[in-house]
Amino acid sequence: VTLVTVLGGGQLGWMLGLAGLPLGVRFRFVDPSGEATARAVGELVVAPLDDADAARHAASGAAVVTYEWEGVPATTAEALVTAGHRVSPPVGALAVAQDRLAEKECLRRLGIPTARFTAVDDRAGLDAAVAHLGLPAVLKTRRGGYDGKGQRVLRDPADVDSAWAALGGVPLILEAFVAFRRELSIVAVRDRDGAVACWPVVENEHRDAILRVTRAPAPGTDHAIQAQAEACIRPLLDELDYVGVACVELFDTGDALLANEIAPRVHNSGHWSIEGAETSQFENHLRAVLGLPLGSTAARGPAAMVNWIGTHPDRAALLAVPGAHLHDYAKVARPGRKLGHVTVTAHDPATLDERLARVREIVSDCS
Ligand code: AMP
Repeated sequence: VTLVTVLGGGQLGWMLGLAGLPLGVRFRFVDPSGEATARAVGELVVAPLDDADAARHAASGAAVVTYEWEGVPATTAEALVTAGHRVSPPVGALAVAQDRLAEKECLRRLGIPTARFTAVDDRAGLDAAVAHLGLPAVLKTRRGGYDGKGQRVLRDPADVDSAWAALGGVPLILEAFVAFRRELSIVAVRDRDGAVACWPVVENEHRDAILRVTRAPAPGTDHAIQAQAEACIRPLLDELDYVGVACVELFDTGDALLANEIAPRVHNSGHWSIEGAETSQFENHLRAVLGLPLGSTAARGPAAMVNWIGTHPDRAALLAVPGAHLHDYAKVARPGRKLGHVTVTAHDPATLDERLARVREIVSDCS
């Protein structure tokens, strides 16, 4: 059997496992929690992810080590490479994605459009950055932020002090505020030979900075938008000599697409692909990191994905919606926690809209 070791054992690991089992792949997950979701689909090694010895131990016998969380310490990934393990995606991708400044600089170097930005290292630097970019602007910690944590919007000069008080003391980045029309993302896979395939660009709705709904393909997208979105990820994957699935989150301003964030892993906005595409992001990630041929990323038809956060919805009500596919991560409910998602599919956009409206209604009680 082919063993894959996955650093991180959350729902992304669980879905990698579900996709890999039929391919004859078996899994070993490393996660600090003994309750990690992915333990349902493989062996679980309980250890913190900065424990390089535990990671090395968990990697023994694996064809490849991959990760389902971009917070995996680069030191752990490097220790595995040094010990002779194949690690995909490459460690360099982790380093870029873990630092918002390195991320934006990499995008800029590759000619991928982003919001204007500037590094902020101290209080005087924040004033200079505000003078340079103007307001409104978004102040973000360079490291450790996700789902909107570690950032503040500065709307007028009075916000500067409070934002500094909240975030100051660690390296920061200030970005010009983008008055986007909508948020999109593009998920792509690159294989060991450098071939890249992209799924259709999708539209994402966030609430409290957590993804709630993805529509695939993004309504109203044409070849030009798909090509623009692909131009925001293809050069990046080539530059990083990337192997596996990655996502770039985009702002659609109506005039342009601006890249906001890179995720060097399978992504929540690609979950629809399990039922909605010829090959899911999870299966293609495994195919890529194992050196197997990629599958088609074409959509089978329109699809939409709805997350539930904090509390569980009425499962029977969801399953009564035609075309609804349930993914319950079997986690203990906690406020703000992603507990599951449902993907709805349909043969035509009008039917999808109707089914999505029903699912939204059922899930709306979940905060
Ligand atoms: P991030 O942590 O960078 O993914 O940002 C979380 C959310 O904050 C994004 O999905 C946007 O809704 C919003 N946001 C982040 N950066 C900006 C920006 N420069 N301008 C406007 N909104 C932003």
